[in-house]
Amino acid sequence: MKAIQFSEHGEAGVLQLVDVPKPTPHGNDVLVHVAFAGINRVDIWVRKGGPAYPVSLPHILGADGAGVVEECGPEAEGVSTGNRVVIIPALSCGTCGFCLKGMDNQCEQFEILGAKRQGTYGEYVLVPDQNVVPIPDSLPFDKAAAFPLAYLTAWHMLTSRAKLQPKEKILIVGASAGVAVAAIQIAKWRGATVLAATTDKAKIEKIKTLQPDDVFCEEEGKDLFKWIHKKTNGHGVDVVFEHVGPATWEKSIKSLGKYGRLVTCGGTSGPSVQIDLRTLFSRDMSILGARMGTQREFQELAQLVFEGKIDPVIDKIFPLAEAAGAHAHIESRQQFGKVLLKI
Ligand SMILES: [Zn+2]
Repeated sequence: MKAIQFSEHGEAGVLQLVDVPKPTPHGNDVLVHVAFAGINRVDIWVRKGGPAYPVSLPHILGADGAGVVEECGPEAEGVSTGNRVVIIPALSCGTCGFCLKGMDNQCEQFEILGAKRQGTYGEYVLVPDQNVVPIPDSLPFDKAAAFPLAYLTAWHMLTSRAKLQPKEKILIVGASAGVAVAAIQIAKWRGATVLAATTDKAKIEKIKTLQPDDVFCEEEGKDLFKWIHKKTNGHGVDVVFEHVGPATWEKSIKSLGKYGRLVTCGGTSGPSVQIDLRTLFSRDMSILGARMGTQREFQELAQLVFEGKIDPVIDKIFPLAEAAGAHAHIESRQQFGKVLLKI
């Protein structure tokens, strides 16, 4: 089968189109004939050799994907050859304490597809039966491949962690990033008042297409906190959606109102931030971490995508052979929405 593989860590140019043997499903494995693979930032970290994701080389990346079930292992259940499916990118054991409590995103053996085992950047991928979800005929494969990791992360952050309620006010920083685009759509679906902030002037019109209640572009002479103060009559927002880290942290905390919840899934601008504890306790604030999402949450989210209530945003589709160009496109921060590979 054709696949994109890398044999050494490095820049996008290490991604090579190669021929590799088609995998065979054993046990409860399912072999999926991939139609589209979605690219995520984790793919870039793995490619570069980030210490959090050691892989044995050569390696095939890819957490997100959708396609048709080609073959099932002898113990695979709940899925049949020929099913159109989307792949759940979070892999869990199903038997540890966290899995048994339904907190499988904290599984003792948690992994992201393509961040340890071989991923979706190829004609075929092997995944456990619990990681495929049949999709309706009405949902095209590209839309199915565009939502799993980013939308699941945003879903987990907003519903389970921050418990965002209708009519609450939410500030979404770094609003043009993939996970933030998902958050805007999910928060609007939830009925919240969405205030989106970006430093990227060129993306404002695109952010507006998602119909947030207002968009703020941070540039010289404009202060995000003052804008939030005005928009909330001085009360601050109920929830801040964070993924940027040190570059936005101080303003994110300042923008939170009493009993406010800040939820974060990462720090693209760095790993460390400062916090004034007096602000935290005197205003009953909560700071919440979030890692991807659970199988149950994926099913909830997928249902909304299947019903057309959440429409995943696709930026650009590259042919599989141009995976290096697709990575470079993401690294130059030109994209708005998901970048996909057509297999
Ligand atoms: Zn587990």
